[in-house]
Amino acid sequence: MKKRMKETVYADYAASAPISERALAAFCETARLCGNPSAIHEAGSRLAEVVERARASVAGLIGADPGEICFTSGGTESDNWAVTSGLRYGTEILGRPRILAVSSLEHDAVLRSAYAAAGEGNVRLLPVSEDGIVPVPPAEELPEAALYTVMTANNETGVIQPVKAWAEAAHRKGALFHTDAVQAAGQIPFDVRETSADLVSLSAHKMHGPVGVGALYIRRELADRFAPFHHGGGQEKNLRPGTVPAALIAAFGAAAEEAAERMAEDMKRTARIRDRIECELLRIPGAVRNGAGKRLPGIANLSFSGVGGEALAIQCGLDGVMVSAGSACHAGSEEPSRVILAMTGDRERAMTALRISIGRETGEEDAVRIVRAVEAGVRRIREA
Ligand code: PLP
Repeated sequence: MKKRMKETVYADYAASAPISERALAAFCETARLCGNPSAIHEAGSRLAEVVERARASVAGLIGADPGEICFTSGGTESDNWAVTSGLRYGTEILGRPRILAVSSLEHDAVLRSAYAAAGEGNVRLLPVSEDGIVPVPPAEELPEAALYTVMTANNETGVIQPVKAWAEAAHRKGALFHTDAVQAAGQIPFDVRETSADLVSLSAHKMHGPVGVGALYIRRELADRFAPFHHGGGQEKNLRPGTVPAALIAAFGAAAEEAAERMAEDMKRTARIRDRIECELLRIPGAVRNGAGKRLPGIANLSFSGVGGEALAIQCGLDGVMVSAGSACHAGSEEPSRVILAMTGDRERAMTALRISIGRETGEEDAVRIVRAVEAGVRRIREA
């Protein structure tokens, strides 16, 4: 008898989106070329051209000048660099106090960098509302700081933050403003000029590019005095040393270009499927949605009372549906979601949160499979 492989449904796009054919083709084509993009011979200049084309594509996605894009190894490095060197710039160049104002929703790449760079006592956490929004308080309540950092959209709830208002508030205080746009860039329109952010973190694999490459946008006026995070050669205009990974960058560029082209259509389609999944799952007794207001189109975050998020994700996996409890970085921790806890103060709700994140390749049939798997998982856990 022929054994049938059970088809799986991938609903963990926020952890990593599948690489697109176009990005993969760009990677393979470039990886076949030999050379180092910094070399002055023909092989080097051929790769340098590829890198510059990709830089223009990534810059184009966020309305930046290509010269403002510095390639990194991913979102984590971009966040570490932005926070560490942003703090240094704010104190040494702008003369601000050695304090970081950080939203309590930030990814660990920002939060832990902040504690490491400024010290525990010098981090001011900006509170979040029950809806998952970090509201801008009246001017007199804004902390004195060298750098403010508020993410563009949260990776667990998808809630989009008022970053333009935060950038303005930070600037009024004489501080720099950084935003981690790792989840938002490529999913929703985001323009650095309109936002007036000084520093923006990006990652390729959240927009159907490869893992291991990202970028930090550094506003033109800052670049001359912005300190590198690593030390080594003079690549990336002396800002980010290390042999430039041309194939990864080429694939990042292709992914950025494709995301820009498809954004309007992908947003509409994905949000429609997400809303349908959410609507059906909210019929389960004891189900609540985490996060409200403007959200990324592909993320749904729900808590099911009495049903541990991690256990439910495992149950869904048994039915071939891949989802996660909170963020992938904390998978297996059995800790409550720090984000949902900060939003609601409700430990049970934070322990029972499930993140379903879909995207470009998720179809209507997948939506049905996701709903059925979650319903069955909740039932099995509650009956056990
Ligand atoms: N920032 C956010 C909001 C993220 O969701 C992630 C990844 O999950 C990162 C930063 C880290 O990005 P990378 O995986 O490219 O290091």
